[in-house]
Amino acid sequence: MVKRHANNTSEAEFREPAAKTRRLTLVPSACDVSVTNACNATCDFCSFARDKQLVKEKRWLNRADFARALPILYRRGIRYLTFQGGEPLLHREIDGLVADAAAAGIHAGVITNGWMLPQKIESLIRAGLRTLLVSIDSHSLEKHEENRGLQGVGERIRQGLSVARHNGVLRMASVTVSRLVQYEALPELLDYLGFDAVVFSYPRREPFGSTSMVFSQNSSLIDFGKEELCEALESIKALKKRFPVFNPAASIDDIKRHVRGEREHFACVGGYKYFYIDWNLNVWRCEAWNKPYGSVFDLDKIPDCRDRCTACMMSCYRDASVLMHAGMAFEDAMTAAGTGHLGEGTRLLFQRTVAQSLASVVAQSRQVFRLAGRPLKHSGKEQLSAV
Ligand code: SF4
Ligand code: SF4
Repeated sequence: MVKRHANNTSEAEFREPAAKTRRLTLVPSACDVSVTNACNATCDFCSFARDKQLVKEKRWLNRADFARALPILYRRGIRYLTFQGGEPLLHREIDGLVADAAAAGIHAGVITNGWMLPQKIESLIRAGLRTLLVSIDSHSLEKHEENRGLQGVGERIRQGLSVARHNGVLRMASVTVSRLVQYEALPELLDYLGFDAVVFSYPRREPFGSTSMVFSQNSSLIDFGKEELCEALESIKALKKRFPVFNPAASIDDIKRHVRGEREHFACVGGYKYFYIDWNLNVWRCEAWNKPYGSVFDLDKIPDCRDRCTACMMSCYRDASVLMHAGMAFEDAMTAAGTGHLGEGTRLLFQRTVAQSLASVVAQSRQVFRLAGRPLKHSGKEQLSAV
């Protein structure tokens, strides 16, 4: 029997790219997918916040259309998707979206504020969720709940993470750098809530050009000067000694260079190995870009972009750029060698940035390996009977 995927394509159609789009893809690509612009929270540093009332019309990603897009994403080498919002768990078919991505051979993660985790976590796990990111704004649960406008969200996060933990889902806190955070006090809360690790994102004051609204022009929580922001970045590096932090140190150093206006070492992979897709199924180079490339259904025809952009400090793109750099150098070296340019291939491999990237990959792999081997401490009653 021919195996068929969610959009009714056969296995052969799904896996095989058209000859003209075939490419060397040793390094998997990633994509952020915004499934809605609706949100139930009031975060001061975000313009999706319900109390700001800047979202005029709620929009939802169509599951059937997204399923049709999955083979195209797979052909482009995308193996990691993070569903985001707004608040993605407000999407009635979020578990179906995760299931379709997982069935397509794409590792699916979700980033959520956690309010709906108790209701949704079991179906998400059944659907194949691999990574759960939950936003945390402070070392103080009280300050976090106040900023989110979600009284009691801490307990809901704790419940959801407990179930995720017993089902082997990686649980990451996603912390925006803001004046609400005391870095040295953060591990205590993250341990209490049940996180494996933390990843930091950097605040954004300028509006994005895309449909993303995760910025705030007026928030006093994020109106940092250069030195204050660099101090926060140093605190994040120091935290690595006490808690697993997934931002590579080399990436944090590059963000410091960005803040100080110095030349960065790592070019961004946005538009080459990392993309943004919104609820309209438009594909963008990244959330910060001001014009979509077009419909996701045209992705096969959209060329790679490798212009050494370092225009912003979006952590997901910039961290991925460091981690992917060594693999991409290998891809480029192979291509150069394959066309007779052996010297150029060798030069590409023996760069200091390649060694820094490899060191970052090794450090992160060690963290993941350690987390995978960590014994469960709970009684087991939170386990899903059906999973
Ligand atoms: S940061 Fe997330 S939870 Fe907070 S308002 Fe923005 S989209 Fe909603
Ligand atoms: S540096 Fe920023 S603006 Fe440039 S491609 Fe990367 S994410 Fe986009």
